[in-house]
Parts: sequence; structure tokens; C-alpha cells
Amino acid sequence: MAADRDAQTETASIEANFAAVRQTMAEAAAAVERRADSVTLVAVSKVQPEARVDAALQVGHRTFGENYVQEAQERWRPRRPRYPDLDLHLVGPLQSNKAGEAVALFDLIQTLDRDKLAAALSKEMAKQGRRVPCLIQVNTGEEPQKAGLAPLEVEAFLHRARETHGLEVRGLMAIPPAAEPPAPHFALLAELARKLDLPIVSMGMSEDYPTAIRLGATHVRVGTALFGARPERKR
Ligand SMILES: *Cc1c(COP(=O)(O)O)cnc(C)c1O
Repeated sequence: MAADRDAQTETASIEANFAAVRQTMAEAAAAVERRADSVTLVAVSKVQPEARVDAALQVGHRTFGENYVQEAQERWRPRRPRYPDLDLHLVGPLQSNKAGEAVALFDLIQTLDRDKLAAALSKEMAKQGRRVPCLIQVNTGEEPQKAGLAPLEVEAFLHRARETHGLEVRGLMAIPPAAEPPAPHFALLAELARKLDLPIVSMGMSEDYPTAIRLGATHVRVGTALFGARPERKR
């Protein structure tokens, strides 16, 4: 009984969070005369308790972002048969030796960032007979510790990803430097996507998704604002 009540409280608060984020997204879109449905909400569920993820499914949400391949497999493989319209995005860094598992599980890989990975993904897609579209991760702040290509490298890499590796690249993704205002980074990413004729622009997290939408995000990746603070990752 107590557990049931907890689950109900969880669902109620997650439902309220989704409604609030949706409302904020719609306002940001309206401010720049964009339609609310031109922006996809990717609910980033990494390390969140299962009950919160189930609550999100219960309120009808289907597009989720995950950072860790193994955690995502454990969470989503058993749920997939019940939710055939799930849309799972990998938003964390991918090691080439996990490419097969990623291709089998995800519907969009947002973090393509090097030739070795492009080759591994390409090989796995051929082997599994499954084409998974990708986004190129761009390191807009050119931070040495962060994944992604420098903005000036993106065009040549896009051609290699398509021509050499035969990948379906649909857009760009970025995580701006934590210590800087994100707007110039968002503007740069959107401009680069426009120049390269790429339809998807994945940018904006809990702290800054309204700004990202005003600057052209087609996908925002929101975790804490939907699910609450993340517990520490268990290893
Ligand atoms: C964790 C994560 C998010 C979500 O961050 P919040 O601040 O919790 O909204 C978005 N994108 C990526 C790549 C992440 O790793």
C-alpha cells in the first residue's frame, strides 16, 4: 500500500514536471514564431531510478536519452516489447567496441565524433541489417577534455561519414562549456547545421533549453528538470 502511494506521488510529480517543461518549451518556441511541435523533448533518464522512468512512460512520454550503453540495455530491453513506439537516443560518448550494442538498441546516435567510431558503426549496421541515423557531436568551445569535432572539422567529417562510411547523418549535437553563457555556442551550432543543410540541431539541457529553442534547437535534452536530481551513479 505504502509503495503504491509512493508510486502515485512519483507519477504525479513527474507528470507536473513534464507539463511545466512542455509549457516552457512552447513559450520559447512562440517567442521566435516557431511551432511548439517543431521541438522534440528528449528525456535524459541516465542513472534515474526505474520508478521515475516508469512514471514518464505512464504519462505517455516515449523519447528518452541515455548515456551509458549497458545501463540503457538493462533498462530498455525488457520494456521495449511493451512500448513499440519508444525512441531511444544515445547522448553519451560511445566506445568503438560498444558499437554493436549501440546499433542494436538505439534509434538515434547523437554522439558520432570520430572516424574510428564511424567505421565501427558502419560495420555493425551492415552486419545487423539495421540503419541507425546519427548526429555529429561538435565541441563548440573546443575544450580539450570534451568529445566532439572542432567546428572547422565538421564539414570534412560529414563527407567522410557519408561517403566513406555510408552513415545517415541527420544533424549536429553540442554541449557548450559549463562556465560560459551558452547562447553563442547555440547560435554557432544552429548556423553550422543550416550551412551544411542538416535538419536536426540537438542542444539545450535543464538549465538552458529555452535559450536553445530560441536559437534553433530541434531537440532539447532535459534530465533533472523532468526527473529531479540524479542519484549518484552506481558502478
Ligand atoms: C545528462 C545530460 C543531459 C541532461 O542534463 P540535465 O542538466 O539533467 O538536464 C543532456 N545532455 C547530455 C549529453 C547529458 O549527458
